[in-house]
Amino acid sequence: MFENLSDRLGGVFDRLTKQGALTEDDVTAAMREVRVALLEADVSLSVARNFVKAVTQKATGSAVTKSITPGQQVVKIVHDELIKVLQGEGAPDQLRIDNPPAPILMVGLQGSGKTTTTAKLAKRLKDREKKRVLMASLDTNRPAAMEQLAILGQQVGVDTLPIVPGENAVQIAKRAKQQATLGGYDVYMLDTAGRLHIDEVLMDEVQAVRDVANPRETLLVVDGLTGQDAVNVASEFDEKVGVSGVVLTRMDGDGRGGAALSMRAVTGKPIRFVGVGEKMDAIEVFDASRVAGRILGMGDIVALVEKAQEVLEVEQAERMMKRFQKGMFNMNDLRNQLEQMLKMGGMQSIMGMMPGMGKMAKQAEAAGFDDKAIKRQIALINSMTKKERANPDLLQASRKKRIAAGAGMEVSELNKLLKMQKQMADTMKKLGKMGKGGMLKQAMR
Ligand code: GDP
Repeated sequence: MFENLSDRLGGVFDRLTKQGALTEDDVTAAMREVRVALLEADVSLSVARNFVKAVTQKATGSAVTKSITPGQQVVKIVHDELIKVLQGEGAPDQLRIDNPPAPILMVGLQGSGKTTTTAKLAKRLKDREKKRVLMASLDTNRPAAMEQLAILGQQVGVDTLPIVPGENAVQIAKRAKQQATLGGYDVYMLDTAGRLHIDEVLMDEVQAVRDVANPRETLLVVDGLTGQDAVNVASEFDEKVGVSGVVLTRMDGDGRGGAALSMRAVTGKPIRFVGVGEKMDAIEVFDASRVAGRILGMGDIVALVEKAQEVLEVEQAERMMKRFQKGMFNMNDLRNQLEQMLKMGGMQSIMGMMPGMGKMAKQAEAAGFDDKAIKRQIALINSMTKKERANPDLLQASRKKRIAAGAGMEVSELNKLLKMQKQMADTMKKLGKMGKGGMLKQAMR
């Protein structure tokens, strides 16, 4: 749905999260790239601009840049801001279909997927909400379109208003209302005529229909692949006939997806559903947080950050940070780290939540670096004396033998562990030296 945008943003955030320390300039530079990515995805200029501004404001504060995971924090801010843009203020709206028979007016350009969407929604209402639905096609210019709705109705088991040749759209709408009332239907859906472009004749007709039907919902169907055009179409329809919600179709394609991001901000109208294929059940309720997750295409980094905050006890984290800053990283520290990993659900789960790490998690498993390996490493550390843990340099051949035997393992495994601890100690030393701007300056708050 948002592959290109996802890829672009993924690249930006990969670099951000790999970079330990972040300056405000780093954030600003990254946001410039985000802006370009949004524009390339056909997000409208004003939306892209406001988006980047909002994120930058939140992300350049010291609470973010000086935290121990600044990159991740920025990603979370972007994620939350995406949800805001996609959803607007307030909770997602439900379709108003109380007071039977509730009229739903379906409007949109020809070829947008209007007829298909009408049938998909009718099926949904019937299957999920046990509503009795009647559908009527008002496209008198295109008998084939009227036939199409009848065929789809049969396919999904929803009644359609019998076609009476020679009637105009308003007459059909009146007859649909009558039939829906007499027939005890909960909902009747009016599939209006579409044109290739917005023109006055079309708008006049839709207005006339609207005035007799007095719809509870006027759903505009727009082709999500058309990007900003979709947003322009929505603005015009809203101005002329008043739209209560938008259905974006063809979101299964690899389009640029910008329409979804601009729609709410530009038109003020909520996206209610997205069409994700040609089949009759290929429609989904629009869920801003899920879409934001997909756009970021990064597993669930937000869940990861939240989890990390939950697990890491602040006090302990602060104590650790102080030690690391001084370049101190002994076996006790390593054991702490390993235990944190296990607490967070182990390597697989952590990597699975990180951008682009799904594959690495599998590789790590293949290389034997999985939860079991972590537990073995902890067992080795437990087999050391207090003194040895505090000062691993003490470990000579005889001590190594004793420790490995104590844990029921080979000395070679202990050597690997020592190597790892040395590498981490070196890294910590370097990071500690980065001083004030360094990522270790302040513990997670
Ligand atoms: P209308 O002229 O607006 O009524 O458009 P139709 O409902 O006839 O749809 C036009 C074409 O788009 C049909 O071939 C549909 O199967 C297809 N279509 C509609 N919605 C979607 C969607 O969400 N995804 C995909 N891939 N195709 C769709």
